[in-house]
Amino acid sequence: MPQMSDHRCPYCFAALPRGASMVACAVGTLANGKPCRAAEPRQGTGRCPDHDVALVDHCYVPGCRRQLPGRWSEVTTTCLAMAGTRSSGKSVYIKVAADLLRNWGRRNHLTVGPYSTQTE
Ligand SMILES: [Zn+2]
Ligand SMILES: [Zn+2]
Repeated sequence: MPQMSDHRCPYCFAALPRGASMVACAVGTLANGKPCRAAEPRQGTGRCPDHDVALVDHCYVPGCRRQLPGRWSEVTTTCLAMAGTRSSGKSVYIKVAADLLRNWGRRNHLTVGPYSTQTE
């Protein structure tokens, strides 16, 4: 099974080079359904002029552009590629692997849990 440790988007798995983080408005759309002025990911910091909220990290890959979990740019991610037909046990494999990791953490006096409520 190939394994890569890198800084990657948790949704599209594209490599996101460190130091090139992009920010955008977490709300993204106006009441009329059109994008707000800070909906497009860009470099830098600041606030959305339409919603007055702090801009947060976003994936900048066209077609993804999803909001990244908080402090995502500070962690290294590990991607495991897995393929299988429908009902071949992919979800069961992931659940068992997560349980084994939690048990390993317990035995080694470590706390193992989801990164955020979004990744549970
Ligand atoms: Zn992405
Ligand atoms: Zn906005």
